[in-house]
Amino acid sequence: MVEKCIVFDLVLSEYPFPIAIAHQIVSFCFTSPFITAGSKKNIAHWLHHPNFSLRIHDVTEPIMIEVDQIYHLACPASPPHYQYNPVKTIKTSTMGTINMLGLAKRVKARMLLTSTSEIYGDPEVHPQPETYWGNVNTIGPRSCYDEGKRVAETMMYSYRNQNNVEVRVARIFNTFGPRMHPNDGRVVSNFIIQALQDKDITIYGDGTQTRSFQYVSDLVDGLHKLMNGDYDGPVNLGNPDEYTVKDFASYIKDMTKSDSEIKLLPKSTDDPSQRKPDIRLAKEKIDWAPKVTVRDGLKEAIRYFQSVLDESGEIIPTGPGAAKPKKIKIQEEA
Ligand code: UDP
Repeated sequence: MVEKCIVFDLVLSEYPFPIAIAHQIVSFCFTSPFITAGSKKNIAHWLHHPNFSLRIHDVTEPIMIEVDQIYHLACPASPPHYQYNPVKTIKTSTMGTINMLGLAKRVKARMLLTSTSEIYGDPEVHPQPETYWGNVNTIGPRSCYDEGKRVAETMMYSYRNQNNVEVRVARIFNTFGPRMHPNDGRVVSNFIIQALQDKDITIYGDGTQTRSFQYVSDLVDGLHKLMNGDYDGPVNLGNPDEYTVKDFASYIKDMTKSDSEIKLLPKSTDDPSQRKPDIRLAKEKIDWAPKVTVRDGLKEAIRYFQSVLDESGEIIPTGPGAAKPKKIKIQEEA
């Protein structure tokens, strides 16, 4: 039985935290600099749980705490948010990961890093297996995130090889679900928020680029299995259900019965043209595969965003440029 685990996460919105129950005694720490990327309201239901404690801590600063497991999830993952402060983004993945690895080494904790499909860059291999090394621009607008996570992976295996730290690395593909920030700026929240308000659905580029979408509960299940399994190589966690962005826009428009127009905007720099996980390794090594269909997941997300709109009134979606995470009315009240 794991006595105590710690989760570093700043995008509170993405993970509904069943992990907290699974591990009996949990101390959650959140990095402060980007705290507004998520919402305290998302963890309101945990705050009075006897096994839960919340500490605000910047992962780029060292921390002294006794734990058995560390989930190092810290880092904004939405392009407009991680590009808003690229220096802090890279510090989170470099200094933050070194701090967590130092902690893991000192207290002999097992550490899981949430890496990303972005380490594959604009992939020339499709779908992407863990053995693919990637195609990343080292100096483009996405590099603070992509290269930060790539070197974070390197640090994980260096500490494993040199210091026997037990490591786990999840490469997370596009994930969505309730509790996402409505101004997250990524495609799922943007399209739903736009469609529900009959605003233009904004496609960056011609919409032929592809993404594959997984529902948040599948991801949490995968992270938990990976942490508690024996396999210590990188593992893709994603749903291979692939859509062009153009088809995805029409799909959301239909599901929401929206009168929105679909509008093409300029393509974002270095936007990957295709992305789909090869999840054979996850099936083989940790007996994991997604269970929730994109359609069922979208129904939940649409219901959630409708309730946010009902409470907060009009929401202007975040555009393609670098943007500071916004607070929304209902979050400030939390
Ligand atoms: N995208 C879009 N309109 C939006 C938001 C995103 O067309 O309002 C596109 C974006 O250019 C990319 C894809 O949707 O091709 C997925 O973008 P997202 O920001 O969700 O995540 P990414 O996978 O690029 O990190």
